[in-house]
Amino acid sequence: MTDVAHTPRVFSGIKPSGGLTLGNYLGAIKRFVETQGQGMDTIYCVVDLHAITVWQDPADLRNATREVAAGYLASGIDPDQSVLFNQSQVSAHAELGWLFNCVARLGWMNRMTQFKEKAGKNAEKQSLGLYAYPSLMAADILLYHATHVPVGEDQKQHVELTRDIAAKFNHDYKADGFFPMPEPVIEGPATRVMNLRDGTKKMSKSGESDMERINMTDDAATIAKKFKKARTDPAPLPETYKELSERPEARNLVDIYASLSDTSAEAVVTEYAGAGWGQFKPALADLAVSKLSPISEEMDRLMKDPAEIDRILGKGADRAREIANPILERTYDIVGMVRSTGA
Ligand code: ATP
Ligand code: MG
Repeated sequence: MTDVAHTPRVFSGIKPSGGLTLGNYLGAIKRFVETQGQGMDTIYCVVDLHAITVWQDPADLRNATREVAAGYLASGIDPDQSVLFNQSQVSAHAELGWLFNCVARLGWMNRMTQFKEKAGKNAEKQSLGLYAYPSLMAADILLYHATHVPVGEDQKQHVELTRDIAAKFNHDYKADGFFPMPEPVIEGPATRVMNLRDGTKKMSKSGESDMERINMTDDAATIAKKFKKARTDPAPLPETYKELSERPEARNLVDIYASLSDTSAEAVVTEYAGAGWGQFKPALADLAVSKLSPISEEMDRLMKDPAEIDRILGKGADRAREIANPILERTYDIVGMVRSTGA
């Protein structure tokens, strides 16, 4: 039962767990846009079922779902070229997620570093969903037989778990090749954008302080202020990128600059060699504003018409179901579930 005879297929998602950050843009959305129109099927999801693994106020969740959708659209995801939808409208995700809960092993889940980070010292009080989330993520990907998963560095372990789940399913059910082995695609200079106040932590939408992240919807003054206050060391920029290896905050700002300007981090260091932060930070802020403000203006415009966003997501969900449902049905058959009609 081999089954990988389709064009390469890309799947990725973003949680509506807060407003989008520069990390989400550079590590995910910008790369999703670049992947579009390259001869691959592209499927992009607002993964709302993942968002509720931690508490979300219902009205905030609805708003954040539309805002993530607006972020995709404003950045250049074309709903005619890509399948764009929110996860909960395609019930096959939850169904395959359950099957995978019965494939994934507790020992595997216990190794997931993101759960440990998010749960902190309070693991006992976390939802079962937060613990099981990587198994649902495996379902999101494998439900479409996706072969490529563009993500930030922090999601690498979950894509590897997805491969383990696919391999164990194929092996246990003697369904060789049914689920493909998806590749994590982690490329470019900004695969792990760091927190502006603490260069050892990644920038996150759900982080505590607004000053630690750039939001895609921040205005020019706010972006300038946040970069100005971003933590750095006192030394100027060095001659070579290698010299930044022990300077995480400095390296982060260089990586952001490189990604925003579509050059390499090495080229940025060459251009600014010897410059101090008083010169580099305002240049970075101007660059970020010039790239983000057209996007945030378009997001603003889109958010004024939530019904239109919902219509786009609904249409995307219809297309997603057309791909997902036959794969789910075959999975049920493989597992031995009886499927029938009353006719
Ligand atoms: P949360 O704090 O709720 O987990 P998040 O900012 O981590 O939110 P996710 O929805 O978990 O965002 O991730 C969406 C995508 O953005 C993933 O591909 C993830 O790897 C990528 N991503 C998230 N943060 C960063 C970052 N700081 N740098 C690069 N990519 C990132
Ligand atoms: Mg995250």
